[in-house]
Order: sequence, then structure tokens, then C-alpha cells
Amino acid sequence: MNRRKFFRSGAGISAGLFVAAGARPKLSAGRSIRTGATTRPVIITSHSNSTGQDAMRKAWEILAADGSALDAVEKGANVIEVDPEDTSVGYGGLPNEQGVVQLDASIMDGRTYNAGSVASIEGIKTPASIARLVMERTDHVMLVGPAALDFAKSFGYKEEDLMTEKARGIWLRWREQHSDKDDWGPAEHLVGREEATRVMDGPMDFHYGTTNVLAVDSNGDIAGITTTSGLSWKVPGRIGDSPIIGAGLYVDNKVGAAGATGRGEDVIKSCASYFIVMQMRAGRTPQEACEDAIEMIIDKYADVNPDFVPPEKFVALNKDGEYGCAWMGIRGTPRMSVHTPEGVAVFEGSSMYDPVG
Ligand code: ASP
Repeated sequence: MNRRKFFRSGAGISAGLFVAAGARPKLSAGRSIRTGATTRPVIITSHSNSTGQDAMRKAWEILAADGSALDAVEKGANVIEVDPEDTSVGYGGLPNEQGVVQLDASIMDGRTYNAGSVASIEGIKTPASIARLVMERTDHVMLVGPAALDFAKSFGYKEEDLMTEKARGIWLRWREQHSDKDDWGPAEHLVGREEATRVMDGPMDFHYGTTNVLAVDSNGDIAGITTTSGLSWKVPGRIGDSPIIGAGLYVDNKVGAAGATGRGEDVIKSCASYFIVMQMRAGRTPQEACEDAIEMIIDKYADVNPDFVPPEKFVALNKDGEYGCAWMGIRGTPRMSVHTPEGVAVFEGSSMYDPVG
């Protein structure tokens, strides 16, 4: 991709759209985020699928009863984490290259300016809740690996096998295809021409996926969670942006919150969530701030590789309940689920990729 192809497309500059969500979309298409969603409470998640919408409904029960943003984001994130069909977060998440599911999660509470995270934790379906325990029951911010699992078990959490048969199947296919110079897969002489083609047609790529859940409650307090199984097929022990405060998540109670999905390495180097919150502090809307972050990452790489397309997606929410999302996706516009007092809906942000230019 050439840098000239970089622009704001889809919903247009800083103007998102609502599209039908689930059975009962409540928000009208074409509504602008600049004029909409200035009410509280509001909760958003980068997951626009039915699980994301279910998560919003569950979390809304807390917000509608004047509960805290912190409780709401945890309950919402847990719904997505335990979904066995979701291969990007928690239980059922895709494993590392050796077939081990290692999860990352973080939480931040704007009201107390406190944060917690776990990284590369195995055997726990709801790492966001363990991150909350780190935040609330220790004076630390981050625990990693086997010690994070021990910490979870000390609070009564059970160690469980996180690999679903669905995830195992995708991993096994990848292992058999990722090199034509290894010995994974059937013996060469047993693979017929048709079978060889079928095997080689499978998904070779990395899979992306993470969820961010951000909320502002009726009191005006803000909280956020980012939780993920991380990049599929990652090098064992690799930690992404999701558990790193300022990278995959940042919350400032006076301003708003931001979260990231995509290649964590880009997000860590650019401190992207912190950047987005600082942009909002400087007066940018959540939508503009997300777009600014994409632009910022492209600029960072400009001298090294002007054709680089950063695969990140950012979501953000401000204290007034406005929200936005942006990516550099080459396939359509980014979406997220939102729940406001008007109901649940899918919000469509802006893609900054111009396939023509
Ligand atoms: N950001 C996650 C990571 O790098 C992966 C993703 O969002 O797809 O671990």
C-alpha cells in the first residue's frame, strides 16, 4: 500500500454510523457521534458480534442500577471470555505456536487511578477478573506466567483446560501448513494431489482478536478492560499490548478511556491507548483521537516502510459518553457494540484505508 492511499473512508471524518444490531436496534442509522451519545451511562466493546452485544446487555444491568463502571466492564468482559466459540479471548482462544493457550488482560479504574494486569497466564477462563484482583488485592500492577496462575488459585479459581476442540483444530491445521520443510502432517507419499491442495488452502495467517470493554457510569466514573488470547501462534511467553497499561488500555477519569486490538508490538511501541486519551484531553473527540492514533503509527513507520498497513483497531469513550473507533482495515469499516440508555446497537467507525488512491 502506498501512503497516498491513507485517508479517512467509510463513515467519513469523525462521523460514525449505527447499523442494525441483533433483534432490536434502537439507534437510527446515520446518526453522528458528534451529536449523539452525550448521555450517561454508556458502555462499549470492540466485539460487534452477538456475544459482544450479549456482553453489553449483561453489563447494562449493572449500569442501569447505578452500579459502577468497574463492575460493568468486568461482567461484560467475562461474557466474552467464557464464550467457547470466540477464538480470540479467554476460553477457546487460539494457542501459541506450541499449542498452549496463554492469556493477557488488564483493567483500569479511573475513579481510583488504579490498574491491574496479568500476562501469559494459563488455565484461567476469566483473566480480566484476575487482573482486577491484582489491582484490588495487591499493591502491584502486573503478574505474569505461572505465578499469576498460582495467584488466581489462591483466590479459589480453578485451573482449567482452555483449549476447545475448535481452537485445537485451527491450531493443528496451522501446524501442518506453516512450512513445507517440516515433518508435521501426513507422510508425503500418503498425501494425494487433491488432499495436498486442500491442506495447503487452509488458513496460514495469524489471527487477530482481542476485546476492549470501556464504560462511563451514571456517576461519571470511567473504567476499562482489555482481554485477549493474544496473537495466534505467538512465540511461547510472548506478551502483547493488552496487559500493558498505556498500550492496550488506558483510563483517565477526567478525560475518557481507550483500548487497542491488532498487532500488539505496534501498540506497545506507540503507547497508543495513552496517546488517544491524551488527544481527547487536548480536545479531540473519541473518533478523531482514534484516527489520530492510526495516523501516528503510520508516521512512525513512514521512513522505514511507507507501504506498511498497521492492522490495529482503536476504540475510545469520553467522559460525556461520546465514543468512536477507527482502523486501517482493508476490508470495510470497523465496528463495535455500544449500549446507551437507548439500547444496544452496533456502531460503525472509520477506516482510513483508501483502496483506490
Ligand atoms: N493485540 C493483541 C496482541 O497483540 C492481539 C489482537 O488484538 O489481535 O496480543
